Amino acid sequence: MIGFGYDVHRLADGESLILGGVPIPSSFGTVAHSDGDVLLHALVDALLGAAGLGDIGEHFPDTDPRWKGESSSTFVRHAVHLVTSAGYRIVNADLTLILQAPKILPYKPLMRDHIASLCGLPVERVGVKATTAENIGAVGRGEGVEAYCVVQLDP
Ligand code: MG
Repeated sequence: MIGFGYDVHRLADGESLILGGVPIPSSFGTVAHSDGDVLLHALVDALLGAAGLGDIGEHFPDTDPRWKGESSSTFVRHAVHLVTSAGYRIVNADLTLILQAPKILPYKPLMRDHIASLCGLPVERVGVKATTAENIGAVGRGEGVEAYCVVQLDP
């Protein structure tokens, strides 16, 4: 089974920037009810989608005070629990982050390690890629950050 996930969050001054579970030093960060980790949100939707289990908004509504400021790693752990309880094994996860700034190259290995650990996968089964938006559009102007994820599950 293949699952696909996408997420976007606005960026604003004074917010924290946490991507793939890794705090990134920055004067701006994501505006969100949770910790705004777009990369992990895309991963959750890919996991849920592959198993036909709905989406992140159904499981963790942003109107629920329980999830205010919650670490998105909690959401991933829950999604992993759901898909494995449904009888699936995670084969691999491939993620792409689109962010104009700051440069996140130094943090990619940490993100990869964290995601592999959350999914119970060897790091070789996790891909974390990043690109800028070439200064084009809202993401290119630094107004937001986007993430895409594809996951494969085996029965
Ligand atoms: Mg989100």
